Amino acid sequence: MAYVDEIMEIVQSRNQGEPEFQQAVKEILDSIAPVIDRNEAEYRDIGLLERLVEPERSISFRVPWVDDQGQVHVNRGYRVQFNSALGPYKGGLRFHPSVNRSIINFLGFEQIFKNALTGLSIGGGKGGSDFDPKGKSDREVMAFCQSFMAELHHNIGAREDVPAGDIGVGGREIGYLYGAYKKHTRLFEGVLTGKGLGWGGSLARTEATGYGAVYLTEEMLRHEGKSMEGKRVLISGSGNVALYAMQKAQEVGAKVLTASDSNGYIYDENGIDFETLRILKEEKRGRVKQYAEEVPTAKYVEGGKVWEIPCDIAMPCATQNELDIDDAKTLVANGCFSLTECANMPCTREATDYLIDNGILFLPGKAANAGGVAVSGLEMSQNAVQLYRSFADVDNNLREIMVGIYEQIDRACEEYDCKGNFVAGANIAGFLRVANAMKAQGYV
Ligand code: NDP
Repeated sequence: MAYVDEIMEIVQSRNQGEPEFQQAVKEILDSIAPVIDRNEAEYRDIGLLERLVEPERSISFRVPWVDDQGQVHVNRGYRVQFNSALGPYKGGLRFHPSVNRSIINFLGFEQIFKNALTGLSIGGGKGGSDFDPKGKSDREVMAFCQSFMAELHHNIGAREDVPAGDIGVGGREIGYLYGAYKKHTRLFEGVLTGKGLGWGGSLARTEATGYGAVYLTEEMLRHEGKSMEGKRVLISGSGNVALYAMQKAQEVGAKVLTASDSNGYIYDENGIDFETLRILKEEKRGRVKQYAEEVPTAKYVEGGKVWEIPCDIAMPCATQNELDIDDAKTLVANGCFSLTECANMPCTREATDYLIDNGILFLPGKAANAGGVAVSGLEMSQNAVQLYRSFADVDNNLREIMVGIYEQIDRACEEYDCKGNFVAGANIAGFLRVANAMKAQGYV
């Protein structure tokens, strides 16, 4: 049996009931098969793949907290420390009711390769809870964050494991989590990224994931003799990644037609007004439906998906598996020519294969949303030396990193004979960096 198939069997039997994790591992193993073929004896000898698919450490814990009526609630917290071959574990915390071990393992596993692509010294981890911050008061969110950190602080540290935000964890949550960490440890250190400006945060971190996705898209299109200028873009989601992908896409001359949340989407053929949506989401914590109430040219579609609108470029920015095979067929039929995964694994495997087979220029999340963790890495280095950089300086560095990612994945495609398949290119380039470090560090 092929080495990658043996490993997939181990993953399936050891992680039953974890479909998202199995999906993520299968995608990586399928794409690195040509690398394994060239090095099979050596990798088998050192148990490389067996070690790669097993987290170094994984914890789950009880998180009790009290709501505004005095009622006690219990959520479950997680942190998976997947791989530290390249540096301290790094990866966000997600607070969303859908969070479970499968979601955390899939995100932690993907994070290893994404972090490798940035070229920085950061390993892969992920964490979170099934707590839903939506609809909770600030005091309730603070109570939850303090209880979560009362346990998590034992397991993280500026040179050990440095979490950040993700779905449901923005500036407010990072603030409460950081305050709780400091209370327990008496350390003011760069243990979380995405901190506020003035207390260790980096300029351009808020914008980094969305901006980075646009920089990578522009770089890919430039190699194809194209650009985003004048193109119709669909964005899903209306959170951190969606907002700043929208802002940068508009800056480079694209027209962004849509945004969404889990209730429905908004569509405006004149383009969504970024500042109106930003204020609604970041300051008023509102829903996209309210945007259509404020802006008369926009219409709100309850329950629909943005992918039904004709476009040139699609940028899914919400969550995993939000774009399925039917959506992929609709996009192709409507003339879409490029898709950038801004969220983590937003396309199902079937959808990804269909889009690539139909000649869509496809950038995988691992490469496209790496700008967030890259600027988190820059935040860690600023914290370490207590020197802070300007917005333009960090933004330029981000752009260089994204261009570097394009070069790496394109080179990997060339070397392993999969020209234009950036899913394979990203997986191979990320894997090679991690594999080389794991080889050098012995069986740990
Ligand atoms: P936010 O919480 O800021 O926003 C998430 C958005 O997606 C919201 O509009 C939310 O709508 C929507 N959404 C979430 N779950 C669902 C669902 N099940 N169905 C439909 N819509 C949903 O998260 P981010 O913008 O930070 O993250 C978005 C994606 O990008 C995630 O996949 C995340 O892992 C990834 N990512 C984020 C990075 C970052 O720096 N923030 C870095 C790299 C990747 P609603 O309010 O209704 O839930």
